[in-house]
Amino acid sequence: MDIIFDLIEKERQRQSHGLELIASENFVSDNVMKAMGSVLTNKYAEGYPGKRYYGGCEVVDEVETLAINRAKELFGVEYANVQPHSGSQANAAIYLAVLKPGDKIMGMDLSMGGHLTHGSAVNFSGIQYNVVSYGVQQETGLIDYDQMREVALRERPKMIIAGFSAYSRDLEYAKFREVADEVGATLWADIAHPAGLVAKGLLNSPFDHCHVVTTTTHKTLRGPRGGMILMGKDFENTYGHKTPKGEIKMMSQVLDGAVFPGIQGGPLEHVIAAKAVAFGEALDTQFETYAKQVRSNAQALSKAMISRGFDIVSGGTDNHLMLVDLRNKGVNGKETEKALVLADITCNKNMVPFDDKSPFTTSGIRLGTAAITTRGLKEQDMETIAELISEVVDNLKSEEVIASVRKRVNELMEGKALFNY
Ligand code: PLP
Repeated sequence: MDIIFDLIEKERQRQSHGLELIASENFVSDNVMKAMGSVLTNKYAEGYPGKRYYGGCEVVDEVETLAINRAKELFGVEYANVQPHSGSQANAAIYLAVLKPGDKIMGMDLSMGGHLTHGSAVNFSGIQYNVVSYGVQQETGLIDYDQMREVALRERPKMIIAGFSAYSRDLEYAKFREVADEVGATLWADIAHPAGLVAKGLLNSPFDHCHVVTTTTHKTLRGPRGGMILMGKDFENTYGHKTPKGEIKMMSQVLDGAVFPGIQGGPLEHVIAAKAVAFGEALDTQFETYAKQVRSNAQALSKAMISRGFDIVSGGTDNHLMLVDLRNKGVNGKETEKALVLADITCNKNMVPFDDKSPFTTSGIRLGTAAITTRGLKEQDMETIAELISEVVDNLKSEEVIASVRKRVNELMEGKALFNY
């Protein structure tokens, strides 16, 4: 047997024994896994259902149509493109559909909670486009909507991005839209992180306010690793994407063309099948119970952390994640992440707003509850987790304390399947 299967087993053990607090991770069901590891991976299917560039696509056409229809039902939207290979690919398609290189965009600053694809200098979005940013207020940790409007009025971006990787509060999409309308910008929401909670109505819906919406499918949505583009309602694209005859195209046509042939070749039909399975699961009422538990767990964890003297940015959470500012504890994100990993607690170091440390060191860590909730943990377990994290943070250099925390983590997770909902 190929050694790779030994490594997969080793990784399964690591995932089973540990506490997974990385906010962007989750555990998929056996059915999602089965669809991903299926013969659908053998099939080329450039194009879209009914309009392919290869023969033999009758079955994958049904698969992809099912995925599209379930996505539309789940989010109550008119348009879905399920082909993006990842969240970043979905985002790249938005840039291609809406802008020309050199156009101006406005997104949340990476160090304040934004994502690389929202205009970071090291990403294509920051390399090919002209970037201005908004951020959060220093005192509250909340998005400064007045500053966002001020920047937009001054800079007049062609596209505004409402979305985040590390912001624990809900977004006011209506406010974003007012500003976008004032300056004539396209409004794009990236709900990669909270999509599962948005699907179940636990957070504000972006679809009435935002022109286009992207998401990943593997975070709170608990599907396979991938991306997706959604639109509440299709509309005429007036951004210069005209047909050779000068006709204005609908945005759905422009977006489909931006994904294929714009930035991708053959779609991953095995992953699209797994997306369909995950959307089917998310349509079930049990997923609502799951999503509510994710949020309750996040709120319980944030409360328990605060009661142990941790500084949670913005003082709490509305979604599945929180940012812990470690500056009052005299430790940095890098050393904390490393010590926690030794204790079988996985999370990631993260910049906090107005951080004085580099992205490689950081002053914070980001914690999320999507994965541990799938493992079956509840509010009372969040007390234990906060206590375990606190012990590690107070004893970063103590091998003894770390070993004892690891033992308790392994005991807590013993016998718990990866997938429990
Ligand atoms: N958008 C946001 C807000 C994200 O947080 C992420 C991933 O963390 C992405 C996009 C990119 O997703 P992927 O890693 O699948 O490219």
